[in-house]
Amino acid sequence: MFLWLVCHERVLTNVEKRRRRLTQVSSCAICGDGREGLDHFLRFCPPTLWRWNQLIRSDASNEFNTLPIKEWILANFLTPTRFVYNFSEWPTMFPYILWNLWKRGNERVFQGNFGQRDDILALSLSMANMGQRVAGSIGTEATIWCQVE
Ligand SMILES: [Zn+2]
Repeated sequence: MFLWLVCHERVLTNVEKRRRRLTQVSSCAICGDGREGLDHFLRFCPPTLWRWNQLIRSDASNEFNTLPIKEWILANFLTPTRFVYNFSEWPTMFPYILWNLWKRGNERVFQGNFGQRDDILALSLSMANMGQRVAGSIGTEATIWCQVE
């Protein structure tokens, strides 16, 4: 569901809240950046960028950071080796990373919970493995989480 929201730009970032006149403030509550849009929240907010830089191949960081968000999501599903080495779990784990980044960011803003800086990867891998076991146990095929037009 969250990935659908991301792909259809329906995530309620501060930029989106301001567009809907729910707030006057569009800046990022975490870093103070002037525009907390989806790209900022999921890729470029400094704590998030730090996390991505731990995961992404250094020779792929320019492409990783410049693709439009829908192409970025699709590339992470279809051609993950563009960004990470030999990481077969990446397409399954990637949506959980996005979800956990969003959830962790909101916990920071609304609960003041800064948690561990590097636990999102382990948590996302655990969730991906659990999801694969559940999918395998009921015999379903992989779901297409996001279709890019
Ligand atoms: Zn920020």
